[in-house]
Amino acid sequence: MPIEKILIAKNGKKFYVKDSSKDLHTEFGYIRSADLKSKDGTVLKTNTGKELSIFSASFIDSYRRIRRGPQTVSLKDIGIIVAETGINKKSKIVDAGAGSGALACFLANIVKEVTTYDIREDFLEIVKKNIEFLELKNIEAKNKSIYNGIDEKNIDLITLDLPEPWMAINAAEKALKHGGFIISFSPSIPQTMDFVNEINKSPNFVCLKIIELIEREWELEERKVRPKSRMIGHTGFLTFVRKI
Ligand code: SAH
Repeated sequence: MPIEKILIAKNGKKFYVKDSSKDLHTEFGYIRSADLKSKDGTVLKTNTGKELSIFSASFIDSYRRIRRGPQTVSLKDIGIIVAETGINKKSKIVDAGAGSGALACFLANIVKEVTTYDIREDFLEIVKKNIEFLELKNIEAKNKSIYNGIDEKNIDLITLDLPEPWMAINAAEKALKHGGFIISFSPSIPQTMDFVNEINKSPNFVCLKIIELIEREWELEERKVRPKSRMIGHTGFLTFVRKI
């Protein structure tokens, strides 16, 4: 079951309601179960008088609460994958490794179908729990090495987030449609180098670009306006490849 409702304070602090048949306890006191059934936009008061607005949770609210095992692809990096490939409700996607299933689940929410591969059964358990939690029906998780071949055909996008992405190139070539994309995510440059050098040897692929996305958040309080002193320094490098 996904998250039911969100309660949000004026300072942006959020509370997640998984089961509105129970009272919700927060650091600002509690809200009674009966109040949790109020209509969206209602301002509720905790027993200590703190005001919290309530609304129904969206996909992204539940997504932020998925289980995390292996390091997941961050939202900023998912954003550019979606934007640069233009994937949509007609798209078929293959993803490896599944890891926590974060990238695969996010994509499944916007495309036709996703198949995600992983060699670790214990990680696939996490992935399956996340698929159930988000109530996604168009995603399959397979216990298989993507280096040994991709069963699916006519694929629009293959996302790779694993240690040796170059070892998936042959399988990707057979599974992708012409004009289809591979996007490889690697935390470090040696993997990116080996992947791109291998892609460049193939007459059937073109490497479009290698990027790193840096997100810097700002704080704004009256006239105190400046970048936050802490930021996420580095996630990984994204390599965009197209089958020709
Ligand atoms: N993108 C994922 C995280 C992937 S972590 C997310 O957003 O949640 C990397 C995963 O690759 C690990 O779970 C690892 O088991 C898997 N992996 C490593 N080699 C693999 C292979 N040959 N085929 C499929 N998965 C592989």
